[in-house]
Amino acid sequence: MHRRITGKLVIATHNPGKLAEMRELLAPYGIEAVSAGELGLGEPDESGDSFRANARIKAEAAAQAAQLPAFADDSGLAVDALGGAPGIYSARWAGETKDFGAAMAQIERLLQERGATTPDQRKAHFVSALCVAWPDGHVDEVEARADGTLVWPPRGTAGFGYDPMFLPDGFDRSFGEMTSIEKHGLPPLGLGLSHRAKAFVKLAEICLAG
Ligand code: IMP
Repeated sequence: MHRRITGKLVIATHNPGKLAEMRELLAPYGIEAVSAGELGLGEPDESGDSFRANARIKAEAAAQAAQLPAFADDSGLAVDALGGAPGIYSARWAGETKDFGAAMAQIERLLQERGATTPDQRKAHFVSALCVAWPDGHVDEVEARADGTLVWPPRGTAGFGYDPMFLPDGFDRSFGEMTSIEKHGLPPLGLGLSHRAKAFVKLAEICLAG
């Protein structure tokens, strides 16, 4: 049985880009969202071997620490020609300094080494796993992906992470060239393009009042 969320919810992320997206997604539902950072909660070790496992680790840790329902996302970019890398290591590829310019350049270097020059050889997808965990141990989980092609050089300065090199299928602008509403806004305002927006729609169906 899924459980409906009402009232206060902890957003278990310390990533400002993701926090802003999650807040925008939750706002229409009248949920009071506080972040793990604002509550001074620590960041658990993301030791899982999948997006789903890591989302659950973060949501469960925050639910226990705050004694409130907690919402976590684990996400990343999986590149077909690189066997799904960087995958769950997407944040770590940017290093301590969170240098996504360098992380994107590394992906491009590896693609060039493999001779991946045509759009067909440069397929990738973002994945978002969402988990809502409750202090009594109940969890609800969903997962979704956004498919696209990697372009070089990076395009645009909007968004975060790998957005500038990701061209979503069916569009001629990268996520880095789209407004946040275009990228992750839900219809009728946006197109619900991003992996997080798609996962959120699934979660809303099972956990949020319509
Ligand atoms: P984590 O989910 O906090 O472990 O980090 C996932 C990492 O994947 C982020 O730091 C970004 O580098 C990347 N990522 C996830 N979602 C997006 C997105 O929507 N755009 C660009 N990069 C993303």
